[in-house]
Amino acid sequence: MSSNRERGRLGRSLALRLGLWHAGLFGIGAAVVFAAVYFLLARALDAREREALEVRAAEYADAFEAGGVTAVRALLEREREQPHVRSLLVRIVGPGGDVTFAKVPDNWIDEDTQVLVPDGWGAPQARRVQTVRVPRDEQRDLAVVSRGLPGGALLQVARSTDNRTVLLAPLRRTMWLAGTAAVLLSAGGGAWLAWRATKPVRAVAATARRIVATGDLSARVEGVQRDDEVGELVRQFNTLLERNGNLLRAMREALDNVAHDLRTPLTRLRAGAEAALQQTNDPAATREALADCIEETDRIQRLLETLLDISAAENGVLKLEREPVGMSGLLQGVAELYALVAEEKAIALQVAPATGLSAWADSTRLRQVMANLVDNAVKYTPAGGSVWLGAEARGSRVAITVRDTGPGIPPGEQEKIWQRLYRGDHSRSQRGLGLGLSVVKALVEAHGGTVAVANHPDGGAVFTIELHRPEPVEGPVPA
Ligand code: ADP
Repeated sequence: MSSNRERGRLGRSLALRLGLWHAGLFGIGAAVVFAAVYFLLARALDAREREALEVRAAEYADAFEAGGVTAVRALLEREREQPHVRSLLVRIVGPGGDVTFAKVPDNWIDEDTQVLVPDGWGAPQARRVQTVRVPRDEQRDLAVVSRGLPGGALLQVARSTDNRTVLLAPLRRTMWLAGTAAVLLSAGGGAWLAWRATKPVRAVAATARRIVATGDLSARVEGVQRDDEVGELVRQFNTLLERNGNLLRAMREALDNVAHDLRTPLTRLRAGAEAALQQTNDPAATREALADCIEETDRIQRLLETLLDISAAENGVLKLEREPVGMSGLLQGVAELYALVAEEKAIALQVAPATGLSAWADSTRLRQVMANLVDNAVKYTPAGGSVWLGAEARGSRVAITVRDTGPGIPPGEQEKIWQRLYRGDHSRSQRGLGLGLSVVKALVEAHGGTVAVANHPDGGAVFTIELHRPEPVEGPVPA
């Protein structure tokens, strides 16, 4: 059963399939090259053989013309000991088909010559070259040159192509062996290379399997240090896991925080309701208890509504009515809103002039953003401090800053303050839900802008928002 599964997995293995493809293509390539070499060599040997036969045939034809059969016999007699003449068949066939002269090599038998039947030779001077196969012997071919002689006779010079066979057979054998070895090697080598190349892909699959099976979000693909496309895939995969892990953790934390933050007002709500029920004889106390209940309910409602607002802004569902929003009017308006609270804390709330500047934004939402930032600045700045509001152009954008002389934000917290329900350690004593900056970030980003925080060298926090300015030409700037 498991071996079946193993075999199935092997069959689906990309490395193995790539290896086999590699071997297949390599085998075809090698076969084409080997075949070309083999046939070129065979043809070259053939051509040389025929050339040699034609030279001999011409020689014997000249001898025949000079002195007939006798001259041919004499010439052959003189050359008989030479090896290239010894292996030759030379014969003269009369016009009627009768063999008038024949010199047969010693190792030939009669049958060999019987295949050389002249059939319709045409003009007496015609020359023809052919290869005939001896029927009794599959391996033996004869190369034959036939030449017409004066008087209608035919001169035939033939030699067995044994030599060629002797030369080519080992070559064929070697090519088979070398070809098979090369194909096997390329299959093995190709599979190994492909296996190595796909190792990171298997690591990615194994990590994904582990996460699915165990829910372990900390799993990462380890040990892949490559600079190529596969390395990039692994890096991106790990980044994706990191982001998803953070997101899930943040969601769990947010859920925990919401549950935690709801528990207190709900407990108070219950206590208030109980008190109202018990104090039936004292209508004033009952009223007060019920008023407390309403206050707690409002608190819960505000919390939930703000959370929903953040979600809507983050998911792009929030509808923004964009228009050119003049910076002067915006900053003055928010400063007026907080003038009283600032005065009570003896905080100087100052607005730098920003005439002529405007942002492309939803004015109500932008006011909400600024109110949250100024609210924090006034809230966290100790009595006697200052808060400055300003705006300046930065290329195609406008940068709005809110600076205070409060405690600033510890570098370790600067990333966290944007999270929902996060509250800094020094803020526990202050009122707040830990949602103000989450709203700021979600709304600014819904506008396509950015928000950042830094600590001023002279102390205090500086929040900077960057938003697009109205395009293409700035419209009339509202006051
Ligand atoms: P809240 O003010 O209700 O606690 P926020 O989301 O507005 O929630 O802010 C998150 C945290 O960021 C605060 O708890 C506080 O620690 C820190 N913070 C925000 N604004 C300032 C500021 N101007 N100066 C110092 N700390 C700040």
